[in-house]
Amino acid sequence: MSARILDGVAVGQAIRADVRPLVDAFTRDAGRPPGLALVLVGNDPASELYVGSKLKSAGESGLRADIERLPASASLDELLALVERLNRSEACDAILVQSPLPASMGAEAERHVFDAIAPDKDVDGFHPVNVGRLVQGRADLVACTPSGIIELLDRSGIQIAGARAVVIGRSDIVGKPMALLLLHRHATVTVCHSRTRDLPSVAREADILVAALGRAAFVTADFVKPGATVIDVGTTRVEDRALVERLFPEGSKRRTAFERRGTLVLGDVHPDVEAVAGALTPVPGGVGPLTIAMLLKNTVSAARSRFERNRRL
Ligand code: NAP
Repeated sequence: MSARILDGVAVGQAIRADVRPLVDAFTRDAGRPPGLALVLVGNDPASELYVGSKLKSAGESGLRADIERLPASASLDELLALVERLNRSEACDAILVQSPLPASMGAEAERHVFDAIAPDKDVDGFHPVNVGRLVQGRADLVACTPSGIIELLDRSGIQIAGARAVVIGRSDIVGKPMALLLLHRHATVTVCHSRTRDLPSVAREADILVAALGRAAFVTADFVKPGATVIDVGTTRVEDRALVERLFPEGSKRRTAFERRGTLVLGDVHPDVEAVAGALTPVPGGVGPLTIAMLLKNTVSAARSRFERNRRL
């Protein structure tokens, strides 16, 4: 058996196609496009790449996106002042502060910054108010990666209600919101982490297995019940030639990509899983494009809610 590959690029495009008329309607009603501010501190190459592709996708969907840059030497207070200015800006509907922040800002910097973003502009859904609403099943703005995964499951015809779901990883940005969304959709959910005993046997109970650990090729075939749906969230950049040679045969697409670049982004799921799973998201081309599509969707939704609220005042 070979798993059905769940195409995140195609689903991401479908979500963006649904967003487009919402953008047009907002632009007509408000006399301006929805506005997204992408805050980038320092010049980490991966962050530059992520922010660049968010900027491009936003532009293609008719949104107005601006990059707000601060140097790596900026202080946490300077960043908080920038967030405050964006909170007050009329033309800005959505604020995304790109992680990670420079280590010099301190271990708690991200928490402070996410707490400072106005909840109605918090398109990442990281503010405690939005997290609280998510727990209660009434959030408008939910973390983009897990909400994108729900869209993918729905649009791929994978039944969530009644399914046994196992989420490996309990981070605030992926694991926990993922578990809550699956729970609200009536899955029976187990959340695993680094202290879980006998992880493969717990994972093997899953009809839907979400791997969000950030450990390349960690989830091997013995973690997977035959026919299960496996969602690979992990993205780990590796330069380890021996690992790549173990995972991908000579002449394969991924091995060739490694030969060309000297690095490769790997998911958390081992290639052997394809022979056991019923459906599987690839890396790249699985969860990544969904995250960006949901960012655009959240931006329009934030813009519309603020517009309607202001109109009622
Ligand atoms: P994170 O904050 O580092 O959390 C990782 C989680 O995995 C933790 O809960 C940790 O458990 C658990 N874990 C680590 N090693 C484990 C092990 N050996 N066995 C069981 N659990 C283990 O990571 P994250 O921010 O959630 O991201 C996870 C991965 O998803 C990363 O590769 C990230 O790059 C990727 N990601 C991709 C997208 C996308 O759009 N494609 C978006 C977001 C994240 P403890 O809590 O016990 O430490």
